[in-house]
Amino acid sequence: MPTYDKSRAKLAEAKQVLAGGVASTLRGSMKPTPLYVESASGVIVKDVDGNEYIDYQLAYGPLILGHAHAGFNERIANAMAKGITYGLQHDGEIELARRLTEVLPCADKVVLSGSGTEAVMLALRLSRAYTGKRKVVRFHGHYHGWSDSIFTSFPSPDMMQKATSAAADSVPPGTKGQSELSLQDVILLPWNEPEALEAALRANASDIAAVISEPVMCNSGCILPKPGYLEKIRELTRELGIVFIMDEVITGFRLGAGGAHGRFGITPDLVTVGKALGGGIAVSAVGGSKEIFELIDTEQVSHLGTLNGNGVATAAGLAVLELMTENDGAVYGTMEDNALKLVGGIRSLFAKHDIRGVVNQIGPVFHFMFIDEDEVNHFDTFQKRDSGKYAKFAQLMLEEGVLVRPNGLWYISAVHESSHIDATLQAIDRVFVRLAEGN
Ligand code: PMP
Repeated sequence: MPTYDKSRAKLAEAKQVLAGGVASTLRGSMKPTPLYVESASGVIVKDVDGNEYIDYQLAYGPLILGHAHAGFNERIANAMAKGITYGLQHDGEIELARRLTEVLPCADKVVLSGSGTEAVMLALRLSRAYTGKRKVVRFHGHYHGWSDSIFTSFPSPDMMQKATSAAADSVPPGTKGQSELSLQDVILLPWNEPEALEAALRANASDIAAVISEPVMCNSGCILPKPGYLEKIRELTRELGIVFIMDEVITGFRLGAGGAHGRFGITPDLVTVGKALGGGIAVSAVGGSKEIFELIDTEQVSHLGTLNGNGVATAAGLAVLELMTENDGAVYGTMEDNALKLVGGIRSLFAKHDIRGVVNQIGPVFHFMFIDEDEVNHFDTFQKRDSGKYAKFAQLMLEEGVLVRPNGLWYISAVHESSHIDATLQAIDRVFVRLAEGN
């Protein structure tokens, strides 16, 4: 049996000096204890107790090239040798911006930032400045970063009824410490319900600056948009003078080089990207129409940040785009094949062990849940999953040498191989037996 004594001791040590013991709140929920890493390479992570894992957490998404990718690291080392950041301009900014406008269909221009949260903050600001309106529609179950103006917790279905009536005060803050005014401009709607969307947008069109949506609800169940739903958002926002922001922080460069909007053939006014773009280095971007970016060109809207566009960040973005698109982007097919093999295998194991579960997958990302339903197409259904059982499953998977997020979202990288998938399915087979035995 693996032990986690050194990780436990290090967490105790961290708690003396690092508030919460972990650097991002979510990481603290890992069971049996948040792990401390010794080193990582490819898809293998080694912890300080000497345990090794096949990694499907991938640092919550950025590591589309896996850990310590040689080609990526070489490009970063070369960039660092030329100076990390200048607070001045350099070619890397132009090259990355140009490359982003080439791969992201909706981007005439881009702006560079450091995190998904910042990219969303800027997209909201641009939307308000562009429309001269204030309110923002966001959806139940989506996540757009932790800034005060958009971070909400997910209320019960009962509270959702109230939220549907667009009462701003029914939008619950994501954390204590947010000003009670911070969400007053947010209208929270259920996702994948075209009628509710149309009613809310038409009733409040003169106040709504933006609709922000993940194109696939990756943060809650990897739920696909109903056929025609994203098109409906696009049509209504265009008709009513509302900016459509597609938040592709998870889907960008993952569902294809052109993200979900490239894959689905829908053109939002603004797109936010991050995570995979940097391959583990902090970089994000907002892309969109030149009409909206004129606000920045003419200095009507400010966009600031000491480290924006630094040489390491731009080298990281360029490296990911180069490595992911070589050979006509063949690696996207490989990632999808591996995901299909793993998901198909998990469904067969559900049947073999008589377990009720659902896996929602698109490209190299999927959500695995234990639930007594045939399909999960709505946030309300997703809320019925047995998250306690999944957390136990994730803990047993760790013991079997597989690292997965405790909430059920799995990522496949460009460097997972068929042999990793086989080993993972064998581990799941063993864990399903252990779950049935109650240990
Ligand atoms: N938008 C989406 C869709 C996300 O999934 C996330 C992060 N999980 C963010 C924004 C925020 O990105 P970051 O953590 O880089 O600030």
